[in-house]
Amino acid sequence: MATQEAYERTLRERLPRVRERVAAAVRRSGREVGAARIVAVTKGHPEGAIEAALAAGLRDLGENRVEELRRKAPLFANRAGLRWHAIGHIQRRKAGAAARLASLIHSVDSLRLAERLSRFGEAERRRIPVLVQVNASGEATKGGFAVARDLHAALDEIARVTALDGMRVLGLMTMAPFVADETTLRRTFRLTREALGAAAAAGGFAGRELSMGMSNDYEIAIEEGSTMVRLGTTLLGRRPG
Ligand SMILES: *Cc1c(COP(=O)(O)O)cnc(C)c1O
Repeated sequence: MATQEAYERTLRERLPRVRERVAAAVRRSGREVGAARIVAVTKGHPEGAIEAALAAGLRDLGENRVEELRRKAPLFANRAGLRWHAIGHIQRRKAGAAARLASLIHSVDSLRLAERLSRFGEAERRRIPVLVQVNASGEATKGGFAVARDLHAALDEIARVTALDGMRVLGLMTMAPFVADETTLRRTFRLTREALGAAAAAGGFAGRELSMGMSNDYEIAIEEGSTMVRLGTTLLGRRPG
């Protein structure tokens, strides 16, 4: 298992370059510096990776499994500024744990999950900050509201999510096809941006966040309007095991 020092070395080598690439893509998109932030995806990595990420100045960390978040988050409970992002599919019975631990849930992929989160938020007298996950590629294997299949039907469903009292919808999240040409990637990200515009125009949105882009496609995602890129491999190397 790689040590904290090894992760610190990896980040010293990689993070400046990734930050440069993010900044350059933001400029190409015609937006202000800082318009896209990095969520460092620590899933599958040991605690040393999290220590190293914090030491490198990263504050937004992502986990895709609630169980792993549940194990790791308490170990870093007192770290100033650390924000956990829940980025993977959430089983409904784990909705409360995700809402308690994460500063932002990126992956509200069904109305039923949204209702569960909203009930939790209402019980706690707060609004749970979330993003609605959309399937903008049309791939059958991808979760989320099916904007690629039927945009209007999906927007109607998303409106039902934003109308829930116990959460605050800050924007949309998408996963692009893992192996895809640039044209397909751009189309996926653009459709997500357009869906956000349409959904926001219909009302109920508290934010304009677009969580899109991973290690292999983040520059394209930023050019197409991403405000949060979820980066694992390109920052921390391959996940062990
Ligand atoms: C693992 C994961 C990522 C990061 O993937 P990399 O290719 O390692 O950058 C991003 N988003 C989600 C939802 C993930 O599960």
